[in-house]
Amino acid sequence: MRFATYSHDDILSVAVEASDGTQLDLTTAGIADELVTLIQNWPSTADKLRSLVANPGDCPRIADRAQRAAPIPRPLRNIFCVGKNYREHAKEFGQSGFDGGATGGNEVPDFPIIFSKATTSVIGPDAAVPSASDPYDTLDYEGELGVIIGLGGKDIAPSNAAQHIFGYTIINDVTAREVQKLHKQWLLGKGADGLCPMGPVVVTADEIGDVAALRLQTSVNGELRQDALVADLIFDIPTLIATISRYITLLPGDIIATGTPAGVGIGFDPPRFLKTGDHVAVSISRIGELNNMIA
Ligand code: MG
Repeated sequence: MRFATYSHDDILSVAVEASDGTQLDLTTAGIADELVTLIQNWPSTADKLRSLVANPGDCPRIADRAQRAAPIPRPLRNIFCVGKNYREHAKEFGQSGFDGGATGGNEVPDFPIIFSKATTSVIGPDAAVPSASDPYDTLDYEGELGVIIGLGGKDIAPSNAAQHIFGYTIINDVTAREVQKLHKQWLLGKGADGLCPMGPVVVTADEIGDVAALRLQTSVNGELRQDALVADLIFDIPTLIATISRYITLLPGDIIATGTPAGVGIGFDPPRFLKTGDHVAVSISRIGELNNMIA
């Protein structure tokens, strides 16, 4: 199933795509007020939703003039993120001079590097990324696969990780590079307001199949900058779920941004930072394309 969230007159509605291609308004239908609550109640609502998608009948539809919001516009807590999780990106970041020493200097990490983005950094598809969030004009893009946790848990073994995954989305882990460097940690440079475009949809794991086969591409103003397979992750998704849940109980609706491949702006010499008017598109096969402009 493919879920989205829409905003209409400042009211949010969660939607699922029906077999006829229309967007069913699950909030107006009284099924779920937002995607996180739908995920929390998934065991008792999944079968009902499957039959609704197959036979939508007169279920309310999303209004034509509604705007897409992030599929999880108000996460329960910070988005978990993974640093330096593609080999070639780890090298380009290590050589860029922007690491700030936060991760020790080893170009390829021995253990997953986990940090987070604030909930208030989330913006939706087609929303403007505020360049004012970076006073140094060093904004950079990072196209990433986002994992949405379904069943929560603590100490989840890698072999059991798949049953804890609800689905997948696209995240642009937009980064203020100079802030990341100056403060020698990643929260401020990555968690500022508007630096987490997400969407356009969350696709359930059963529709994705082999996640390693997904292809991620990022382009800036139509120029291809990142192109990689999820198979190239240094620490795969079961390892990330096991690592985080070893210390922090994962909750339904939690989001994990799995890391970005090579080709970010600081991988160029000189760096190619984003500027006002730039258009960033992150696409992942079987999910879709996330488009945002820099304001
Ligand atoms: Mg990242």
